[in-house]
Amino acid sequence: MTISGKARVAGIIGWPVAHSLSMRLHGFWLDAFGIDGVYAPFPVRPGGLEQALRALPLLGIAGVNLTVPHKVQAMAALDRVDELTRRIGAANTIVVAGDGALEGRNTDGYGFIESLRAGATGWSAAAGPAVVLGAGGAARAVIVALQDAGAPLIRIANRTLATAQGLADELGPGIEAVAWEARAAALGDAALLVNTTSLGLIGQPPLEIALDDLPPDAIVTDVVYVPLQTPLLAAAAARGNVTVDGLGMLLHQGRPGFAAWFGRDPEVTQQLRDHVLAGAA
Ligand code: NDP
Repeated sequence: MTISGKARVAGIIGWPVAHSLSMRLHGFWLDAFGIDGVYAPFPVRPGGLEQALRALPLLGIAGVNLTVPHKVQAMAALDRVDELTRRIGAANTIVVAGDGALEGRNTDGYGFIESLRAGATGWSAAAGPAVVLGAGGAARAVIVALQDAGAPLIRIANRTLATAQGLADELGPGIEAVAWEARAAALGDAALLVNTTSLGLIGQPPLEIALDDLPPDAIVTDVVYVPLQTPLLAAAAARGNVTVDGLGMLLHQGRPGFAAWFGRDPEVTQQLRDHVLAGAA
């Protein structure tokens, strides 16, 4: 669409950034609302992040999303960071405030919870223990969000046990580290199983985990969304567990940023999913 000289500008900073689906996501909402605005890709090398962020207020840019590899590094360059973002230790959304300050937020955990609520009707974090596979950046956002949503116990199984133990020590109580080899045995009383590793992503090895002990009413979700139905979700669905794919997390995490930059509260619809997915092919 054609923009005017008054257009609001936002975008995403990453390296690389060309693969990101966020242009399709925010572009869909901009078109749907008929907003005089643009959401652009900003390829920024890791060494250039701070300079790029400092340029945002100078250029009149409303804010940006951050993707790999910038989410953690950005924290040091931000002027204000809310408590949730500080606990997660990474920011994925920056809003340029009226005074020019850079405000950092993390909406990945919000996106995760909203996606579960939308995809698994009646889901409640309080239903029972959650098992989280992985202890990287996505896991941190998921674990903090589950903790805040009321999960009574979170077990983290990670290939590198020390990383899981570090997370449990930092974010606990109510969080336990589990050896990667014990991941299947940790499922016996689980109400939720989440894969936050990159296993199952196209080009990566599949996630191997025996689901025999997983209760039939447990919900299974994956943060990987390429492919949409990962081998984990396929195996879980085949035995009757409710599954929620990772695309919803991506779509929902974009909502708070869009609302802050463009002043409208967007929805996640099937039409949006189809539009964004068409760009993942
Ligand atoms: P990180 O690099 O921070 O973490 C990767 C995790 O995967 C670590 O726990 C790592 O374990 C584990 N891992 C990697 N390879 C293996 C392996 N061969 N065997 C066992 N474990 C392995 O990545 P992120 O947390 O940033 O991202 C993880 C995934 O989440 C990516 O696919 C990303 O695209 C996706 N994602 C999706 C989002 C969404 O909106 N749906 C949002 C953010 C991320 P170890 O500690 O031992 O290295």
